[in-house]
Amino acid sequence: MTLAERIIGIAKERNISFAELGRIAGIERTTISMITTGKSEGGNPTIKRLVEAFGDEFEQYYQYATCKQCGEVFLPASGNQATCSKKCSKKNATEISVRWSKSHSTRTVSGLTDSQRFGWGPKVKKPAVSIPEYNSVAREEYGSYGQRGAAERVAQSGTMRESMGLV
Ligand SMILES: [Zn+2]
Repeated sequence: MTLAERIIGIAKERNISFAELGRIAGIERTTISMITTGKSEGGNPTIKRLVEAFGDEFEQYYQYATCKQCGEVFLPASGNQATCSKKCSKKNATEISVRWSKSHSTRTVSGLTDSQRFGWGPKVKKPAVSIPEYNSVAREEYGSYGQRGAAERVAQSGTMRESMGLV
């Protein structure tokens, strides 16, 4: 039996409208109608409210997920929860940041990648130059944004690097 069928069944058994059923469980009317018309499967927060209001028979509709890190099956609080625990979530975030810094390591100035220089990468603890510093030096030296853009290209090969003390 689908969740939609079960909700329709409950409304019939108790002789209540969907609006009333929503009020009892604390679920938006629109959410109920999305489910009963087959437009939504209902997320775990909604299922939890149905379990609390109408009993364990609604537990079968929980949507379980597999943790991206440890592979354990778990009950996500929301649809976009990728990991089962704080520990796995931290591990996942670290992996994403390492992947990110690897994929952004092609542009190099002064021997360091942008991610290392600005402190995005895992290896450098303190950034050599902060973004506001970088901007203020660029503004002082080159005035407008456009001029700065042109200057940045020049900087790849020398003068601006020196001006920022990166050599
Ligand atoms: Zn996990």
